[in-house]
Amino acid sequence: MRCVSIRAVPEIVVATNNRGKAEEFRRLLGPEGWTVRTPRDLGLNFEVDESGATYEENARLKAIAASRLACLPALGDDSGIEVAALGGEPGLRSARFAGDGASDAANRARLLEKLASQRDRAACFVCVLVLTAADDEQVFRGEVKGVIVASERGAGGFGYDPIFQPAGQEMTMAELSSAVKDELSHRGRAVQAALPALRALRSASAQRGG
Ligand code: IMP
Repeated sequence: MRCVSIRAVPEIVVATNNRGKAEEFRRLLGPEGWTVRTPRDLGLNFEVDESGATYEENARLKAIAASRLACLPALGDDSGIEVAALGGEPGLRSARFAGDGASDAANRARLLEKLASQRDRAACFVCVLVLTAADDEQVFRGEVKGVIVASERGAGGFGYDPIFQPAGQEMTMAELSSAVKDELSHRGRAVQAALPALRALRSASAQRGG
């Protein structure tokens, strides 16, 4: 389907079916004046083959697909956790570390199992965002370093949060408050980097009367 025109901001579609990510984008972008939609909110069937060789390529595939479907500016997020002792794994394969369609719990269990006898527990969360609006596209990245703890702790967040403890913290991401996670997380940092572009997009639209 071709868009007749990109609908007015301040609506933006986040190119994800992951409820945890969507909730974080609502928290991060709501106070900036954006109404955050997901393809699911809009009744759209959003499936992207994550065939890219990098986070950036996958984030771009997601952003372009969501923007075309929703006729809105879009943010594509591709993220993952990189574990030094595993040579950077699971990285791009974080969502399917325990197999295609694996649950978050299964992915965490696989990672803990692989690190069972490992003393080097260093890890890094990475988030790459692609912002696309009309013909423009910009890329932003955020990272947070930390360690994989011995067993799950905490009930907040999603994905690998219960087994990742950011450097300088005594709690896992799933034990930290949302406000603290947003401040130090890979996604929070990538959004911080994107804020000038998002603000410019919002004011350009307001000037057009959108
Ligand atoms: P993708 O970006 O949809 O390919 O998947 C990202 C993978 O990394 C999923 O398994 C997520 O659960 C995980 N992930 C991404 N961001 C976070 C986060 O903020 N906390 C915990 N896990 C995350």
